[in-house]
Amino acid sequence: MEVILAQNSGFCFGVKRAIEIALNEADKHKNSTKKIFTYGPIIHNDIVISELKSKGIEDYNSINSCPNNSETIVIIRSHGVGPLVYDELKNKNIEVIDATCPFVTKIHELAHEYSKTECTIIIFGDKNHSEVKGIVGWAGNNCHVVASIEDLENLNLKKDSKYVIFSQTTFDVSTFKILVEFLTKNGYNFKVFDTICPSTKLRQDEVFEISRKVSIMLIIGSKNSSNTKKLFNIASANCSKTYLIENLSDLEKINFLDVDIKTSKIGIGAGASAPEKIIQEVVEYVRNEF
Ligand code: SF4
Repeated sequence: MEVILAQNSGFCFGVKRAIEIALNEADKHKNSTKKIFTYGPIIHNDIVISELKSKGIEDYNSINSCPNNSETIVIIRSHGVGPLVYDELKNKNIEVIDATCPFVTKIHELAHEYSKTECTIIIFGDKNHSEVKGIVGWAGNNCHVVASIEDLENLNLKKDSKYVIFSQTTFDVSTFKILVEFLTKNGYNFKVFDTICPSTKLRQDEVFEISRKVSIMLIIGSKNSSNTKKLFNIASANCSKTYLIENLSDLEKINFLDVDIKTSKIGIGAGASAPEKIIQEVVEYVRNEF
């Protein structure tokens, strides 16, 4: 049995940075009366969330338990937020520490800039994802979110209008190309910014390549994580035995009886919210037990 581990696995630059910022804040204020909250979970990972909790960092949902706003610090996570959230926090006199990933900030700046033009903004992404909600906030009212050709068709785009395109940082690279091709082929007047982040591209490319060569593919990460689900879909298209696992105990529950594990090649990839510790546990288990 051969194990191929994707080199681009686990926490991405933006997630690592946000966690470091949060831990630094906790350290800085450990002897003060200040309360620290994150605006939504900083990462889709229960282990990291528990570690942050043990350092006194709570989720924003519990902010009402804080009696005094001037004693409150809110950390914006790597997904970023729209301008209304900054306004809301400022009005409440709450200190904000901004851990928005710089790749996301770049999209906010573009969206804000183009919201002042005649262009209609089209965002390729999942309209329910927090990152996209934040971008929509900066893009203003003349903005649509699409994830498929069908969504684009439903917009009834006009040949004499101008459009500008951005994408969610974790959008699927091949779907991005398909949507741009559709707009080009139909002769729409648009400018496109490929805002899929480099880390996402590397991860997706690597998982695509590995999943072509193996008979079992494991994707480690949260079932709620957008980039993990994309990796799972990419791998599943090449390898019918692709499994999404959050941790070692998920792997232990899988029945591999119909596969000759000893002669199989097993690929392992991981989303941006998978901690190194869990990746190593899975790799070690596969090497020792399979
Ligand atoms: S996936 Fe990319 S854009 Fe998103 S947090 Fe990580 S590095 Fe930043």
